[in-house]
Amino acid sequence: MANVEWDQVKANMRSAIGAGNFKSWIEPLSLVNTAEGVARLTAPNLFVGDYVGKTYGDQIIYHLNRQGMSVQRLAFDIDGATSLSKPAAKKATPLTADAQPDQRFTFDSFVVGKPNELAHAAAKRVAEGGPTTFNPLFLYGGVGLGKTHLMHAIAHELGEKRPDLNVLYISADQFIYRFISALRERKMMDFKQHFRSVDVLMVDDIQFLEGKESTQEEFFHTFNALVDQNKQLIISADRAPGEIRDLSERIKSRLQCGLVVDLHPTDYELRLGILHAKQETYVNVYPGVEIATGVLEFLAHRISSNVRVLEGALNRLYALASLVGRTVTVEMAQDCLSDILRASDRKLTIEEIQRKVSEHYDIRLSDMLGPKRTRSLARPRQVAMWLCKQLTSRSLPEIGRKFGKRDHTTIMHGVRKIDELRQSDSQIADDLELLRRALED
Ligand code: ADP
Ligand code: MG
Repeated sequence: MANVEWDQVKANMRSAIGAGNFKSWIEPLSLVNTAEGVARLTAPNLFVGDYVGKTYGDQIIYHLNRQGMSVQRLAFDIDGATSLSKPAAKKATPLTADAQPDQRFTFDSFVVGKPNELAHAAAKRVAEGGPTTFNPLFLYGGVGLGKTHLMHAIAHELGEKRPDLNVLYISADQFIYRFISALRERKMMDFKQHFRSVDVLMVDDIQFLEGKESTQEEFFHTFNALVDQNKQLIISADRAPGEIRDLSERIKSRLQCGLVVDLHPTDYELRLGILHAKQETYVNVYPGVEIATGVLEFLAHRISSNVRVLEGALNRLYALASLVGRTVTVEMAQDCLSDILRASDRKLTIEEIQRKVSEHYDIRLSDMLGPKRTRSLARPRQVAMWLCKQLTSRSLPEIGRKFGKRDHTTIMHGVRKIDELRQSDSQIADDLELLRRALED
């Protein structure tokens, strides 16, 4: 591969991850060659190779593909040695129908909370391999909420409980690809037989069938054939069946005949639970790395977009901590994750916080912003300042301006005061937690 293309990949990575990260991680790499879907890169040491593979592998692969290289995997050469990087996510190695389920995606590693308990229960039921009670099971929800994880977990569990069953997992992408290949190679009979001989069929991300009429037709026939034989189908999409454009009405109504469950966006408790679970798995990977109390809470509050991003953030923090050999603090997290934090900023406004806090303490908004300094007003005001600092990305001077044109040192003082009080005064700590939750929902 010519260097211009690698240079272009690097340029794209630079704008995607920022100059700082780029300099530390991507700049030191060079591309040796690409062959058979593997891009071979040299990294200065094992750590960089490992970290880049885990953190940026997907993105690099994506940009290589955009430059016309067909790459599914990265391999790193380090001082002559070679380590085949584990793909960061299954996107890096599209699972084919014949692939093993991802070892990381089991029911054990799936954290259950309010937003996903129904989907989890339904998946568990299907994984028992008993007589089909609902068919198909249709799981839907936004990106990174655990659809693929649940499907793989079902495959794992069925593999143990019902090894006699022929279980097939395939992404809709792959289904389309296979269908088109079969057409081209005149192997439609094989294709049909292959899919109709399974006992459990899982098709992931069927929103990709949007607008693909002939593939939809084939999918529909496969679907019907299996349901008629009482074979279990599990389908996922990023939205409800009715909302998938160009999906034929026949398919929509068939999909709705089974059980349709959605994975809701994560809430704070679930995110924190996932981070704690992840942290346990990191203990062995990064021995000796310490994370200060409050860091996981900080992440769970600030990164609400999707679980994949949350995991990526924690992973990056661990890698950094093991590199610099220091305990990870909230400040370090703020620094090293600034790109992620900015992207998932909840856009909570200072005004919203002020309103909520004054309601909570039953004071007038004008008093909170006004000059009076009685304790019954000063404390709520400081609580609001603290929340503004924690939950928005506004600077102290900006916050000051919105608090009746106060100086940034006043805000800093208020934030510190509350930081002290929350250690010693459980009433304040409870108030903060309550308010924070109310604001985040
Ligand atoms: P989706 O298919 O819905 O886009 P994935 O199943 O790929 O999402 O999940 C994205 C990442 O988040 C995976 O690494 C997965 O293990 C993790 N994840 C999602 N939900 C949970 C959960 N409830 N518990 C543990 N990990 C989760
Ligand atoms: Mg998925």
